Amino acid sequence: MEMSHLQPCIQLQIPKEELERVVDKAKDWALIHGISMRSKESFNRNQVQVLPFTLLPSSFPRKNFEKVKSIQVLLNELIHKVAHDNDFLTKSLKSTIEADSFTARLFSIYETVYREGYTQTLSLGLLRSDYMLHENQIKQVELNTIASSFGGIVTVTSKYHKYILSDLGHADKIKNIPENNPINGLSKGLIQAWKLYNNKKAVILFVVENITYNICDQRFHEFEIHNINPDVKVIRRSLRDLVSEAKLGPNKELIVGGLEASVVYFRSGYEVEAYPTEREWEVRLLIERSRAIKCPSIHYHLAGTKKVQQSLAYPNALSIFLKDNKAIKQLQEVFAGLYSLEFNDEAETVIDKAILEPNKYVLKPQREGGGNNVYNEDIKLHLESMRNSEKRTAWILMDRFYPPVQKNYIVRAHKEPFENNHLHFSDVVSELGIYGVVIGDHASIIYNEEVGHILRTKSSNENEGGIAAGIGAIDTPYLI
Ligand code: ADP
Ligand code: MG
Ligand code: MG
Repeated sequence: MEMSHLQPCIQLQIPKEELERVVDKAKDWALIHGISMRSKESFNRNQVQVLPFTLLPSSFPRKNFEKVKSIQVLLNELIHKVAHDNDFLTKSLKSTIEADSFTARLFSIYETVYREGYTQTLSLGLLRSDYMLHENQIKQVELNTIASSFGGIVTVTSKYHKYILSDLGHADKIKNIPENNPINGLSKGLIQAWKLYNNKKAVILFVVENITYNICDQRFHEFEIHNINPDVKVIRRSLRDLVSEAKLGPNKELIVGGLEASVVYFRSGYEVEAYPTEREWEVRLLIERSRAIKCPSIHYHLAGTKKVQQSLAYPNALSIFLKDNKAIKQLQEVFAGLYSLEFNDEAETVIDKAILEPNKYVLKPQREGGGNNVYNEDIKLHLESMRNSEKRTAWILMDRFYPPVQKNYIVRAHKEPFENNHLHFSDVVSELGIYGVVIGDHASIIYNEEVGHILRTKSSNENEGGIAAGIGAIDTPYLI
């Protein structure tokens, strides 16, 4: 595979003698400002360590950056409409839920509340559409409708990269770092939903993991909400807590420990581990039945599955939802090849191709949170083993992107003593994400905004780059 390259923002490698001091300062800046997380290896509620971040911002083509920023409001509209199209969701997910029990559980909650009629017709979407560059084009990796993370941390990281450029004597380059304040836009979305609920005493409920490692990012939302409007109270509960604490009031209010929840913001609940027993599933259903505005509601959650993404890539799918041909074309331009593994001739052809040239594809199940996809020779093994089984319909195939390589340093919380040899000016690739906020019901959209971006960067020889898993790093685009 031919590799393309991007020039780094500053040409010179930092001399080794200087590097240690620069990194030391960068880490202190990161820790002091909250580019941090709790350690998985040595968990301690009283401590955070730096989240992996790039020492320098990474170059990104301005033209492509602006293109995907400008289409975010269209994607918001699209996903909102998809979430409200019972026919499309049902048809898209039909064979998937036969093969994948997790999606089937989500779908059965959806069917229940759809049949009963939504108590709360408004939904809040805090979305993040992710992209990679591939052969000079920008292509969508996926669109997240649940727990789209790092909006708080990247707001700070953009400031860090301005600081470090200036500190290294490149203040003139700061103009190439675009404004970025997703935490403000996302928090405003949560507050807007709280206002629409129209009960000043009601709180915003964050549904969180039993142990939260990515604590800074979640707290940034909470603190920003307080900054914008100190009257809005945030409470945090895990699904496990809610099993004993949550109940419905006489008008289906969601009551948690005596407080009424206006908005439920899920930062957990997308992962299988969040539902260890039937009780957690029951509480998810209880929340969906409630009057609270959900972020996401169950139909929004389903609209964010990989299977729905694949259904939307069919040639005529977008015209069901969007009337403007220019808008349809703009979205189709960023969609990649996505392939169903249902039982038909096209699927047999793409399976043959993927077995022959697995490095041209990524094999994806219906999961979120990173680390679930299959790459390279494993694709071949997986496809061969499930080719004749219903299991394969739980998966999709996607064209694989090979983003251009550039050089950067990835800074991590290495154990002391500081080992300079961990830090290499090494080959990295990036994934851009654009945040969107959307609020509306089946009849209309009442709030639709693009609110900022994130860049995540990983070593060019990694398949995936989970930040919390320590492979990927938080970054900032330097527009070229
Ligand atoms: P998740 O919902 O788990 O984040 P993604 O679809 O975003 O699932 O895949 C996880 C990671 O896998 C991405 O962040 C990216 O690094 C890599 N990846 C996904 N799709 C592709 C692709 N088509 N080409 C190259 N890498 C991909
Ligand atoms: Mg995802
Ligand atoms: Mg992803």
